[in-house]
Amino acid sequence: MQLKTRYGSFGGCYAPESLIPILQEIEQGFIEAQQDEHFQAEFHRLLQDYAGRPTPVTHAKNLSSEYGFELYLKREDLLHGGAHKTNNTIGQLLLARHLGKKRIIAETGAGQHGVATAMTGAMLGFDVEIYMGSVDVVRQKSNVERMKLFGAKVHSVSSGSSTLKDAINEAMRDWIANAENTYYCFGTAAGPHPFPALVRYFQAIIGQEAKKQMLLQTQHLPDAVIACVGGGSNAIGIFSAFLDEQSVKIYGAEAAGKGVETDKHAATLNKGQAGVFHGMHSLFLQDKDGQITEPYSISAGLDYPGIGPEHAFLQQTKRVQYHGITDNKAIDAFEQLSKKEGIIPALESAHAVALALRLSQDVLSAKRVLVNLSGRGDKDLHSYFAYKKGLANESI
Ligand SMILES: *Cc1c(COP(=O)(O)O)cnc(C)c1O
Repeated sequence: MQLKTRYGSFGGCYAPESLIPILQEIEQGFIEAQQDEHFQAEFHRLLQDYAGRPTPVTHAKNLSSEYGFELYLKREDLLHGGAHKTNNTIGQLLLARHLGKKRIIAETGAGQHGVATAMTGAMLGFDVEIYMGSVDVVRQKSNVERMKLFGAKVHSVSSGSSTLKDAINEAMRDWIANAENTYYCFGTAAGPHPFPALVRYFQAIIGQEAKKQMLLQTQHLPDAVIACVGGGSNAIGIFSAFLDEQSVKIYGAEAAGKGVETDKHAATLNKGQAGVFHGMHSLFLQDKDGQITEPYSISAGLDYPGIGPEHAFLQQTKRVQYHGITDNKAIDAFEQLSKKEGIIPALESAHAVALALRLSQDVLSAKRVLVNLSGRGDKDLHSYFAYKKGLANESI
């Protein structure tokens, strides 16, 4: 069996030489796992009995009648841990066990991947250490507390912008030094091969379920599928089931931060340029010398300066359209879903909801729109109220 290492010209494996045998070991283990009945049975048993799959698809009735199209939400917010991240950590930690590793490291931005790794690590009996930017440690305090409660050690990283990309650099350093007994559980569909392929594989359950559920509930495929894009894992998870369905339009919502003209710090797919970083050839926000620039978004989970290689390819081939969503539009969607449907979305997911509402007003002729609600917003209340308070101060 041969795994795909490239998506068009994007992807590849640009890792330090010392990591190549380790990445090959992971690739080999992943190929075995896909054909191993016991691995598959345990993966699906844990997704069901531990994480709570399948997650439902909810028809958002009130917003639907207000906006004049049928809005459906794939409820990854209801997954144990609060976001889609759990699908990936269960898959990768089972893979780590298959490879005989005892220690798990991971990077985290919003804290959700750190929580999911620590939580799954506790359940499967691993030692877990998490790298997190010091800015994010402050922004996402309750997630740090949860990681500690699960028994993980949290390293606060204060280099560069002290956010996700710096946490990844630090985790890579740890891995290079300790690869013998350590598995690096990467949090999104990016990085060197085989990570984009294996994260896609473990997240594909979202799309597989959602497709069946839409057919069962509406007798139709959705006309459009929308997901938010940070590194791209929840998006590729739901998109994967619809890429070959030509009738289904597919959209990605990326963070456009404050959205002012001079804002070069967000919207990777729209403003990024091709380059090599974090082990892959993809699109990145960078300055004229090729240095990676510091991203900004109200949602910590979307402020990664790069994008998974398959999304770069899907944009290039125009199969998926990617739109930037500003902070204020995401906040508006966050409020609307809370007030009208009784669902508090993660700020990341609110970008996808905002794009659905925006498209309904112009181009979208779609009747049925499926949005991947990647996570729940309890973790974001602090950011939300701080944002509202900031607005109040500005208007004085
Ligand atoms: C981490 C996260 C994201 C962004 O990551 P992707 O890999 O792009 O999916 C989106 N939504 C939520 C709720 C997250 O926790």
